[in-house]
Amino acid sequence: AAKQSGRNQYSFFSMQMNQQLQERIEVIQGVRTALEQGHFRLEYQPVLDLNDGTPRGAEALLRWHDPERGMIPPGLFIPIIEDSDLIEPVTEWVARQAVHDLKELQALQPSFVVSINVSGAALHQESTRDFLTELSRTENLPRHGLSIELTETSMIRHLDDCRQTLKQWKEAGMNIWIDDFGTGYSSLSYLHQLPINGLKIDRSFIRELDPDGSNSLIATILTLAESMNLHVVAEGIETETQRECIRRLGARFGQGFGLHRPMPLEALKKLLEH
Ligand code: C2E
Ligand code: MG
Ligand code: MG
Ligand code: MG
Repeated sequence: AAKQSGRNQYSFFSMQMNQQLQERIEVIQGVRTALEQGHFRLEYQPVLDLNDGTPRGAEALLRWHDPERGMIPPGLFIPIIEDSDLIEPVTEWVARQAVHDLKELQALQPSFVVSINVSGAALHQESTRDFLTELSRTENLPRHGLSIELTETSMIRHLDDCRQTLKQWKEAGMNIWIDDFGTGYSSLSYLHQLPINGLKIDRSFIRELDPDGSNSLIATILTLAESMNLHVVAEGIETETQRECIRRLGARFGQGFGLHRPMPLEALKKLLEH
């Protein structure tokens, strides 16, 4: 009986493994096709000044519309292509498109900023580092028009290399933000070692806000940011209560479904026109 269940277990795991492998292959092939046939889009989620509600910038979010499978969320395919040679062309596609769109947005609001997400694997690729530097220079972007969002975990893995890369990007005029701040790493010492402009506080902190409580954890993060001269965006604001609570605690900027859902460029332009 033991032998029997052992064999069953084995085939169960190999079936699962097969399925994962199968999915991986499909995703990689699919992304390649998506790049070739233009199935990628960007959507933009506005970042508001919480004091007066005006849009100050937007985060570019990648969308993959497969003609057969429909919308495939980035949380599904980005991790899979991270350790393939596709993360590089995808990152470059996003950056090029975002820069193109940024110009249209700045024509409506000259101080408007756009951020893109650069994942761990791409951050440590020389080709991506140099591509973004060159793009920023050759496109003659206004300084600080384009921001790059990076997670803590992706940066501390190779702190020394990372410091060089960020320095180069900053010199080329881009701003650096830590994405999902508070979820990744337990030590904060890296904050002093890297040239960072701001923190995007992860939505898990916003979810836990208590309008009647002291919210000491998030208050401490905000004090830290202020003392280091870092800007702050509160992510994942879904309710009016959260918005008011985080604003009173001192966060200047906010982003979330309760303010605006991610939207196509055309919708964002309409928002800026009003
Ligand atoms: P992220 O950078 O933390 O992006 C924010 C995600 O939170 C987005 O999901 C956004 O739609 C979602 N969000 C915004 N407000 C709310 C809210 O109020 N409530 C909730 N529940 N969610 C909210 P999305 O678009 O599915 O992106 C997921 C992740 O995929 C992003 O997390 C980012 O890490 C990654 N990603 C997206 N676009 C790109 C890209 O172009 N390149 C790379 N490397 N990663 C990307
Ligand atoms: Mg982000
Ligand atoms: Mg985020
Ligand atoms: Mg996130």
